[in-house]
Amino acid sequence: MTTFVAATHSQRHKSSTPIKFNIRNLIVPLGQIRSVLLISFISTLSSIILTLLITVLTGNINREELFIALSYGTALPLIISSVVSWPIVKIVLRLDKLETEMRYLASYDGLTKVLNRRAFLEKADYLLQVAKRQRLSFSVVLADIDNFKRINDQFGHEAGDDVLQQVGSLFNSCIRESDLIGRYGGEEFVLLFTTPDPTKAVNACERLHKQLRQLVVPFKGHSIQVTISIGVAHFKPTTDISLQELLSQADQAMYHAKNNGKDQTIVFAN
Ligand code: GH3
Ligand code: MG
Ligand code: MG
Repeated sequence: MTTFVAATHSQRHKSSTPIKFNIRNLIVPLGQIRSVLLISFISTLSSIILTLLITVLTGNINREELFIALSYGTALPLIISSVVSWPIVKIVLRLDKLETEMRYLASYDGLTKVLNRRAFLEKADYLLQVAKRQRLSFSVVLADIDNFKRINDQFGHEAGDDVLQQVGSLFNSCIRESDLIGRYGGEEFVLLFTTPDPTKAVNACERLHKQLRQLVVPFKGHSIQVTISIGVAHFKPTTDISLQELLSQADQAMYHAKNNGKDQTIVFAN
């Protein structure tokens, strides 16, 4: 269990840049002002050392000439390095921010702020391989909002989007750091509970139903409420099943929940 959680966590951060020394790794934590100050300090210090070295090597230089040389050797690099490094540091920081945003957009759904389908499947597949190797169990869950089309028809697409956003935020706050949550399709979410205990996974689903029944989405004077139908499929390490097969089992269970009256969880029975 501990290993599985650790593996999940490391997978979550797999896409981040490996720690290696480059100028960006220095500039980003320092920020603009401190980076420029550091660059100016290093340039000025190097210039002073170089000036003194040249003076010593040249010899035959009086105090006045040394003073002039040191004044130029201090003032020029100080001014030039500050003026030149300011816009360069600014560009480096902007690029870093853009890259962080791009990484986020590549993995997360903009509306619901949960993983997008591709990122979820990638992470879930990795966890399935870990679970197979380490003989661990987990659960895959499909959750589909009930009668969502009615919300769009009654209040408009914008209201539907608000509901999706709120549901995504609720799911995000309900799951553990070691679990996964993604947007599988339009109004369908997919989750992976790393708990090996099937009862705990079902209890977590029941908590989702409960929280969702209490959620009220305000829209132009209306109070919108939704429910979800959930299908659960448990992975047992004794079976050699693929992620697609597991998802298909969860999908079948979810459709049973729909046909059984919606707003409930059904577990796929082998
Ligand atoms: P069921 O309880 O059987 O799941 O019924 P449903 O109405 O929820 O399901 P249906 O598949 O009939 O309709 C889903 C609707 O979700 C249709 C589609 O227009 C809407 N939808 C999908 N993605 C989005 C989205 O990003 N925003 C909004 N507002 N609507 C969306
Ligand atoms: Mg639906
Ligand atoms: Mg659907």
